[in-house]
Amino acid sequence: MIKINENYLKLQASYLFSDIARRVSTYQQANPEQNLIKLGIGDVTRALPAACVEAFHAAVDEMASDSTFRGYGPEQGYDFLREVIAREDFQARGAAIEADEIFVSDGAKCDSGNFQEIFSSDIRVAIPDPVYPVYVDTNVMAGRTGEARDGRYEGLVYLNGNSDNGFIPDLPEQPVDLIYLCFPNNPTGAMATREQLQKWVDYARENRAIILYDAAYEAFIQDDSLPHSIYELEGSREVAVEFRSFSKTAGFTGTRCAFTVVPKSCMAYTESGEAVPVHDLWNRRHTTKFNSVSYPVQRAAEAVYSPEGKGQVKELVAYYLNNARYIRENMEALGYRCIGGENSPYIWIDGKTDSWEFFDRLLNDAGVVCTPGAGFGKCGEGYIRISAFNSFENVREAMTRISNSL
Ligand SMILES: *Cc1c(COP(=O)(O)O)cnc(C)c1O
Repeated sequence: MIKINENYLKLQASYLFSDIARRVSTYQQANPEQNLIKLGIGDVTRALPAACVEAFHAAVDEMASDSTFRGYGPEQGYDFLREVIAREDFQARGAAIEADEIFVSDGAKCDSGNFQEIFSSDIRVAIPDPVYPVYVDTNVMAGRTGEARDGRYEGLVYLNGNSDNGFIPDLPEQPVDLIYLCFPNNPTGAMATREQLQKWVDYARENRAIILYDAAYEAFIQDDSLPHSIYELEGSREVAVEFRSFSKTAGFTGTRCAFTVVPKSCMAYTESGEAVPVHDLWNRRHTTKFNSVSYPVQRAAEAVYSPEGKGQVKELVAYYLNNARYIRENMEALGYRCIGGENSPYIWIDGKTDSWEFFDRLLNDAGVVCTPGAGFGKCGEGYIRISAFNSFENVREAMTRISNSL
């Protein structure tokens, strides 16, 4: 008899997006003339930068001729891409990362979800709340939790975000081995300072733990005092893995390219305490289960670092950040406390009521769709997330309608 992985049965169905869809469709049936403005989705809306499109086309042409055609590439990514990433994203910021520590992949979602499989199933795992749901669900699938009770899985250590800590979680009270951090954060838009992150790195070193650092929104960091990479912090090469993505940076959500950084000095341990380089394990995993990102996509990603590409990406990010600033200023003017929107495309708003009630009010009174914070964890209750991924015209119209209705 074929048996299932029963850990999958522990997964709590996420009603978030189906619930949103149902409420939106009910509203649309009742108000067919009203055009809805969607500020709920965590997906970009503007086209790929021209430099990427040009490189993409040129690479497709190479594939069209026998003399320049390429078959399987190196699983870890082509050197041309790994080298420019190491130089521009890390060495240029004083972070000692080499090209062979970069693993190019088709997404930070898969990498941040898959990375846990190289660790033992009996480690203690700490995950922020609220946060991107992938970290929790993949640990449930791997059998590292018990059942869900009251919205939380037994066996996980939740790192609470709240208005007291500005949604930058404190160190856990019980010892943990694997720590997920996401900054700038999805959904809150909060960004940890150098000092706050250094505490986590020090904790990981003292406890021989590892930090999985998701920096998918790194390009949105504007404040020069904030670290763009965890490797800007002292001692982090021994204890941190970093996930990056071209998705939000350069509009690659539908094109697919990301990378994971695994320093060669980052160690995990055998039962008997012998150190094993995590780089070796991830390299083994990656080359066994992944067959590289398509050549044209890697050329398109490389173009992000060309002088034209850099300018275009900067412009793209500035466009969304201008939306974010506009949303935050308007919501604050209405008397709502906000986090994010300064180094992030997300604004996290204290709705002063329950998440769904505030969601319904924005939908029914203003025709604006947001995301209820409760969908990102227990600590998200009472908050909503508004996304800056839309046109400025739509954002302005949405804010006018909200101002007139609240
Ligand atoms: C969007 C997002 C990612 C994802 O990206 P892909 O590279 O598109 O798979 C990863 N982490 C967080 C927190 C995100 O919001």
